Amino acid sequence: LLDTLDPRQVRSGYAEIVKYALIEDAGLFGWLEGHRAAVLAGDSARTHAIAAAVAGKARIVEQDERETSGHRVLLNLGHTFGHALEAETGFSDRLLHGEAVALGCVLAFDFSVLKGLCAADDAAKVRDHFAAAGLPTRQAELGLAGMGQRLASHMQHDKKRQDGQTMFILVHGIGRASVCKNVDLAAVARFLDRAA
Ligand SMILES: [Zn+2]
Repeated sequence: LLDTLDPRQVRSGYAEIVKYALIEDAGLFGWLEGHRAAVLAGDSARTHAIAAAVAGKARIVEQDERETSGHRVLLNLGHTFGHALEAETGFSDRLLHGEAVALGCVLAFDFSVLKGLCAADDAAKVRDHFAAAGLPTRQAELGLAGMGQRLASHMQHDKKRQDGQTMFILVHGIGRASVCKNVDLAAVARFLDRAA
């Protein structure tokens, strides 16, 4: 089935695999850095990568089966930014879901650097990895530069909001995601304008 997919769809799915590595599996990210091309090409490396991603999801869900501890929301890494990008592009083939997740993860890392949570080197590694996989890593590539205010207003309507706050999954590094609830959307809008 995967072999019948358009390469763009395969790359889009690959972004979600990388997401699991970024959440809490730095070892998997290191492995992907050495096997990205093989995973995209679809040999046994792809099977290994999918198995690792599925195991990663199972591990996270198992730790928070009833969505009580908050651990499970880590699965949304890249998705708060990503959903806003998808909304702005009309959920069209202008931007596939996985492409939005790739750019969303890059933005989550860059925003974490801005907040002093994450080393800039890690954010650069993540951007380079997605870019080398042929995924979008800059808003300007999508004609979305300078739209911080509009993107932030999409986040205000995100279904993952809790108690009137938009929840962000930020990072302390590759494989070290954590939940951040007190994020000021105006600061996010300014960041998005500068991050163009
Ligand atoms: Zn997703």
